[in-house]
Amino acid sequence: MMRTLLLAMAVLGVATAVAIGSYTALAGSNPVGDVAGVVIGHELTHAFDDQGRQFDAQGNLNNWWSAADERSFNARASLIEKQFDDYIVIDAIHTNGKQTRGENIADLGGVKIAYLAFQKSLEGKPLPTNADGFTTDQRFFIAYAQVWRAVARPEAIRILAVTDTHAFPRFRAIGPLANLPEFAGAFACQPGDPAIRPERLRVQIW
Ligand SMILES: [Zn+2]
Repeated sequence: MMRTLLLAMAVLGVATAVAIGSYTALAGSNPVGDVAGVVIGHELTHAFDDQGRQFDAQGNLNNWWSAADERSFNARASLIEKQFDDYIVIDAIHTNGKQTRGENIADLGGVKIAYLAFQKSLEGKPLPTNADGFTTDQRFFIAYAQVWRAVARPEAIRILAVTDTHAFPRFRAIGPLANLPEFAGAFACQPGDPAIRPERLRVQIW
């Protein structure tokens, strides 16, 4: 437990540094630091992903959900599984939706919680001015995407695709955002745009 906690804190520290670095590039004011909320939200969502949800408040393996909730959750989780199955990582290798399902659920929950918290932090304050031609919402999502900048050799990408429970970073950026109406709204996406999923396929778990 302690090891898990320390690991989570280390991940949080790294991600915070990465997020703040990204914002510097945007030379903006406000969404600074709010993307760190993505990591906090991600870790919290793990308690309610396909694995975490099987444990009760005491940490015991005990399914405490109603049958209806469980059915609904599984239907939504299978949608995100399918979404990531469709992504091609390299050559003919696809992301494995089942292998990465828990992390993808946590990513989707994390960015959503962070966005809602960011909006809440603006309540009662004047809306920050645009910076570099981007609105506050656009900068939030750009900073989110910048968190996932990564390069790797093709060999490493192939190994990660079949062993890592996390999707390759590029898909951790585009996958969750494709499901968020707030992202679509921020960039005025139209139905059929490749950056967003059709409404009937959009995943909403929480
Ligand atoms: Zn995770």
